[in-house]
Amino acid sequence: MSQQKLCDVELCSYTQDAERILIAAKHTRRLEKHDKGAPIDQQELQHCLKTVLAPLEFVDYIFLIKGVTRAFTHQLVRSRVGTSFAQESMRVANKSGQASARIQSEKPQFKTAVEVSFACYESMIEEGVATEDARGVLPINTLTNIMMKINLRALSSMMNSRLCVRTAKEYRTVAEDIRDLVLNIHPWAEPVLRPYCAHHGVCCYPAYTKCPLKAKYQELQPVDTELDEIMEEWKRLVPNNAFNPIS
Ligand SMILES: Cc1cc2nc3c(=O)[nH]c(=O)nc-3n(C[C@H](O)[C@H](O)[C@H](O)COP(=O)(O)OP(=O)(O)OC[C@H]3O[C@@H](n4cnc5c(N)ncnc54)[C@H](O)[C@@H]3O)c2cc1C
Repeated sequence: MSQQKLCDVELCSYTQDAERILIAAKHTRRLEKHDKGAPIDQQELQHCLKTVLAPLEFVDYIFLIKGVTRAFTHQLVRSRVGTSFAQESMRVANKSGQASARIQSEKPQFKTAVEVSFACYESMIEEGVATEDARGVLPINTLTNIMMKINLRALSSMMNSRLCVRTAKEYRTVAEDIRDLVLNIHPWAEPVLRPYCAHHGVCCYPAYTKCPLKAKYQELQPVDTELDEIMEEWKRLVPNNAFNPIS
């Protein structure tokens, strides 16, 4: 049983010509012609990241994430929209002699529990217990591999929440690796691949007080009175066709 493997994130594939596709998707809305040979307008590209976000769904990335815990992959697959996943099946795979787990605590109980769990698994497999039943005793930190396809819009949302200090360390590490890999090929995507606060200017967890950034940047705290004021103005200006966006 090996322990404490570091995860390994690989970018297997991504949308070629993503910049042109993004700009074309945005222009199509306005029935503008596409000039495939035109140089990429960086300002236009940045504008795509700040306006209607649907064009970001045209840009896909495929990652292979190796040596991560099942605890992490449970969290990863909660992102349901704009994603696809393929993962090793412990129902089918016989992990005897191959299983490893991340030891996340120095406490001897952790290591002992993992060792006992693997020993029980192996002895059950030897006695003919089906893998789909024996897997039930394996720890949640058993290491696994997972493949993920995700579009840029979903990735932005994932980075918003998973680069945040509130996220579990393992997920944050993978999120940082994914961010680095994407920025290596698409540096223009940086403004949307940030923690929520550095993307939207406010904290997505108003009640969370332990964030070290909040201690420095008071403005990350939502200002309720201003929002109420804006709402009052909305009530005054917008309903009942009081405002025509086209005119
Ligand atoms: C710090 C942290 C702690 C967490 N703790 C827990 C926890 O204790 N327990 C737990 O169960 N989960 C927990 N989660 C997971 C969280 O609840 C979400 O399931 C996960 O972050 C995926 O987010 P999502 O639903 O926005 O993603 P997606 O499923 O990919 O959805 C993306 C967006 O699409 C829209 N959407 C998706 N599905 C629907 C729908 N059916 N109807 C309408 N709109 C939809 C929403 O706008 C949504 O934001 C935690 C997440 C974080 C970041």
